[in-house]
Amino acid sequence: MSRAAGFLDTICGDDEECMERVKNFLSYLDELERLVKKLPKPELLDYSPPLTERVKNLSQIREKAAEITRGDEDAVDYLVRRRIFIEHGARIQKNWTGDTCPVCGLHPTLILYKPSETGLFSGHRPYYRCVCGSEWRGWEWRCPKCGGEGRRNFETLIIASSIESRRCIGCKYVIPTLEHGLLELHKIHLLLTLLLP
Ligand SMILES: [Zn+2]
Ligand SMILES: [Zn+2]
Repeated sequence: MSRAAGFLDTICGDDEECMERVKNFLSYLDELERLVKKLPKPELLDYSPPLTERVKNLSQIREKAAEITRGDEDAVDYLVRRRIFIEHGARIQKNWTGDTCPVCGLHPTLILYKPSETGLFSGHRPYYRCVCGSEWRGWEWRCPKCGGEGRRNFETLIIASSIESRRCIGCKYVIPTLEHGLLELHKIHLLLTLLLP
């Protein structure tokens, strides 16, 4: 059993209907990933973030996305952001340390803990993640939306052994945290975004 499947067990327990819905959703995401590749290549005016505002042929890409999703606006938005990330994300996220995604201009929707790269310190470092796929260095106990700081600024809910949901007391922003190492991270991130308020 993959770790993603283990994750589904955690969410659904013995509820077969839940399991079925989540599995359908995961195959829907596979389908979306296939559709992303059919969109035209985004041509940028320059590399200033957010990239979604710097795409010369944005209307052409949106039109094509609307055609393949039959006009579902949320799916169009997601496909366009994902397409821009796949083409240009690696370059712009490299030295980014902002509170919003350098591709989409939106606040991160996941904190991902990755093993520290410096040999001197053990432990994990927080990275922010956006559903487009961008990942960049983030902060442990700081709200990316209002800047509120400190552990006491958050209410924490344990969802599973490696997943927490944190809610900023100041602005009510909710962000889940996940430990690095889960397979199918991108799909799990999308799932969490839809599951949590
Ligand atoms: Zn993004
Ligand atoms: Zn906040």
